[in-house]
Amino acid sequence: MIRSIEQLDLAGKRVFVRVDFNVPLDKKTAAVKDDSRIRASLPTIRHALGKKAKVILASHLGRPDGKVVPELSLENVGARLSQLLGQDVIFADDCVGDGVRKLAGDLREGQVLLLENLRFHPEEEKNDDEFARQLAALAEAYVNDAFGTAHRAHASTVGMVKHVPQRGAGFLMLSELKHLQPLLKGARRPYVAILGGAKVSDKIKVIDNLMTRVDALLIGGAMAYTFMSARGIGVGSSRVEKDKVEVARRALEKAKQSRVELLLPVDHVVAREPKGGVDTRTVDDPIPEGFMGLDIGPKTAASYVERIGRTATVFWNGPMGMFEVSEYAAGTRAIAQALAHATARGAMTVVGGGDSAAAVVEMGLADQVTHVSTGGGASLEFLEGRELPGVKVLDDQA
Ligand code: ADP
Ligand code: MG
Repeated sequence: MIRSIEQLDLAGKRVFVRVDFNVPLDKKTAAVKDDSRIRASLPTIRHALGKKAKVILASHLGRPDGKVVPELSLENVGARLSQLLGQDVIFADDCVGDGVRKLAGDLREGQVLLLENLRFHPEEEKNDDEFARQLAALAEAYVNDAFGTAHRAHASTVGMVKHVPQRGAGFLMLSELKHLQPLLKGARRPYVAILGGAKVSDKIKVIDNLMTRVDALLIGGAMAYTFMSARGIGVGSSRVEKDKVEVARRALEKAKQSRVELLLPVDHVVAREPKGGVDTRTVDDPIPEGFMGLDIGPKTAASYVERIGRTATVFWNGPMGMFEVSEYAAGTRAIAQALAHATARGAMTVVGGGDSAAAVVEMGLADQVTHVSTGGGASLEFLEGRELPGVKVLDDQA
């Protein structure tokens, strides 16, 4: 059983909350460019404060690779958090050591201490036990609210946890698990997964694992051309992962045997070059020589939208085309809108993956789907059927 933060005894206790404050910073001013990850952790922080805890927050930011990189300091994140919370946030210029121990020891109920970037120490990513014990010694309770790093066995996500007397999950972590778990077990049918994006190699394990759980798999994005090659359909000069054609062929075979509908695009928006401002046209299969597929075509979009219209559960990962360029965004937009419609009629709809989540946010549809997963890599690993170390360690029975 994983306990919720609500089940922990936090009153008067120092609680270490592992948050995901890995936010984009402005290159020039180092100001926080997008504070949505900070906002996402507020319910957990506010809950702990409401319970009169002494709150210690820790996160990584970027990839300093075990060295102090001043541009990757969390200090500006602390300033933004302070504005959002409407109270002071004490900033520690390190995450371990005497100074931090003193700051943590002096904390009063309802105060917030933010530690410096965990990854300034190489021991964090190495999951070094001595470092983990130092982090653990700061607190009497541990809460993980950083689903996005739960697939990494680091000191702050795994190593320290067993050294803290109480442990549990924050609201963001709980929400991720609540929405992702049914995609693997007990989903309401019909259940459809839409998988797109750049590479078969990134997504094949998810495809494999979802294959036996869904009623239909709808394939789009650059990945589709490797699948089309496996079916022997001409793809012109589209991006194909030559060394993955065989893998795609086996997936097509497995779908047939499992009697899962696996749909590939039947028409395409193509151009001679992968960029905007060039001549585009819409073609049925096969794609003519010299042209590359950059989005699913309108017939494909209509058929996928129709299929999504007959579902009770939908999972979507990966854009249908090169959606960053407006000429090739229509397929991705159609899928995002179809998910919004499905949600409105009562389906459970979940979007996972960095770019697909960004697309939904950009299109202003994030609050019209059931759940947008904040953990790109973590949500994919979860759907591959792998146990996430940062989740497993929270389970008291494990
Ligand atoms: P996610 O982050 O949602 O998991 P991916 O990272 O796998 O998605 O894929 C997103 C990228 O794939 C985007 O940058 C998009 O431009 C690119 N992409 C999708 N379809 C095509 C295509 N047909 N040709 C070239 N690039 C594509
Ligand atoms: Mg991506």
